[in-house]
Amino acid sequence: MKELVGCCSNCKKEIYCLDGFLNGVHTDAKELYCFDCYERQEKPEKNPQS
Ligand SMILES: [Zn+2]
Repeated sequence: MKELVGCCSNCKKEIYCLDGFLNGVHTDAKELYCFDCYERQEKPEKNPQS
């Protein structure tokens, strides 16, 4: 089963729920992000602005 949950708040990619597994991350602020954007947000120290 594949259910459209919403779109990534950053890149607008569609986020689906696949057999109960969310294809992204729901934050405490009720925002939805794909894994790529979420990881970029969570680890800013790994992406120095050089
Ligand atoms: Zn995204």
